[in-house]
Amino acid sequence: MSQETLWLAVDDHGNPEIFSSIQGEGASLGAPRTFIRLSGCNLHCKWCDTAYTWNFEGTPFSHEDNVKFVPEAERLSRSFADIASEVAKLEPSGIVITGGEPMLQKGKLEGLITAIKNDCGPVWVEIETNGSIAPPARLVPLVNQFNVSPKLAHSGNDAAIALNEASLSAYAALPQSWFKFVIGSPEDLEEVLALTRKFRIPHERVYLMPLGRSSGEVRMRSKWLTEECLRHGMNFTDRLHIHLYGDTRGT
Ligand code: SF4
Repeated sequence: MSQETLWLAVDDHGNPEIFSSIQGEGASLGAPRTFIRLSGCNLHCKWCDTAYTWNFEGTPFSHEDNVKFVPEAERLSRSFADIASEVAKLEPSGIVITGGEPMLQKGKLEGLITAIKNDCGPVWVEIETNGSIAPPARLVPLVNQFNVSPKLAHSGNDAAIALNEASLSAYAALPQSWFKFVIGSPEDLEEVLALTRKFRIPHERVYLMPLGRSSGEVRMRSKWLTEECLRHGMNFTDRLHIHLYGDTRGT
């Protein structure tokens, strides 16, 4: 098997963050999935709930928690073969490659998915991405579902990077793309509508998700957000894992 490696995030026990759980968000909410969390992100959202994948000591990025992480403690390099073997132990029917931003390691995802399918059989494959890095052509047919979550102005990112036009156009053209927007206030809807118009994203392929890293925060934004979903013909998505487990690793 291939000895090529990927950078993975680390769980609370110092192991690669590979775990089975219920998909908590978006088009597959409620489905059993095995998650593989990769380290590194090209964006730096101030409310990110996986800042341990990118907000390392010595970097200039800011985050609402004001916590910097030691990279040696927060990421592990593992071969495709080792990752596939760990995933196979969990006997998945579907996998989710998440992050951080998995597409930072886009050249390696084809090899990773192939190794996992060799060990596990024909599993359903999802990739969660912020949409700022287009997928390589050879990767696209291997992925059943792209969960694309472009980051709006309230994330604190430079729009020129976060809303890369060529990349968002590429995802919008794929039939297996679903879009998910984190919404903090009703004003964020104007930005979503401008993006769906610009990239011709059908509203039925859009999920609006309340910003929140606690159950109370998610609930607080849910009622008015469902009303916005109804108004615009978009889908609402909860953050089920936050209600069940809180903002914790490996869930
Ligand atoms: S794009 Fe995702 S992983 Fe990256 S900083 Fe934003 S929320 Fe975190």
